[in-house]
Amino acid sequence: MNNIKKAANEIKKAKYLLINAGAGMGVDSGLPDFRGNEGFWMAYPIAKKLGLNFQALANPAWFDINPRLAWAFYGHRLNLYRNTTPHRGFEILKNLPHNKFVFTSNVDGQFQKAGFDDKKIVEIHGSIHYLQCSVPCGDEIWENNEEVEVDMEKFEALNILKCKFCGSVARPNILMFGDFRFVEKRVEVQLARYEYWLSQIDDKLVILEIGAGKAVPTVRYESEKIKNMFNATLIRINPREADGADIEIPLRAKEALEKIEAYL
Ligand SMILES: [Zn+2]
Repeated sequence: MNNIKKAANEIKKAKYLLINAGAGMGVDSGLPDFRGNEGFWMAYPIAKKLGLNFQALANPAWFDINPRLAWAFYGHRLNLYRNTTPHRGFEILKNLPHNKFVFTSNVDGQFQKAGFDDKKIVEIHGSIHYLQCSVPCGDEIWENNEEVEVDMEKFEALNILKCKFCGSVARPNILMFGDFRFVEKRVEVQLARYEYWLSQIDDKLVILEIGAGKAVPTVRYESEKIKNMFNATLIRINPREADGADIEIPLRAKEALEKIEAYL
């Protein structure tokens, strides 16, 4: 029996489904994957010219030192994510009849955009669609309904979003590198709902992990932790790093999900 069929059988037997998604989930929607410096610079050639890699750019200090640069990077990503249509894999997952929860390191809001219940998602690294103060002056988090215009040639934002409360520069409510100013309130609420969901599990759980690499291992650790806690079956979809699971599927997200769907 091949692994696709095995995965489909496990999914069919399960009542609960935990979807653990990393950056690889977005690639099939056309979103860039910031794997390694070369991957990042392919998406942002201007950053290469400036000598900045992903870690250097995804740093909260830029909102103090050079908010136009900080908002060029996050504003461009915000526009990109707003304009992206989630690929068919999201639809396949959404249509599964299970009692589901999503745990993701992605900040792109694609699960909500695909129609998943916002109250059944943990965005462990935050979301680009929410803002907080860069200082921060308090622990408020608000939805970003504003536009950011970016001059990509100069890599400069034409407008800078401001804190609703104190007028300082606002920033996305995303956990950045070396970030001691991330306001965790929203993630904490999500985690509380997730823990409640986990506490209700009384039947077979399958963990479907998709596109979560070893470079940022938060999602993989979560899969492995929950697998051990619940004696769950872990299905790992990853074209390069599918190892270490009960069922390993070395394919990209959309292709793997479409193949699994064919057996459901
Ligand atoms: Zn403020």
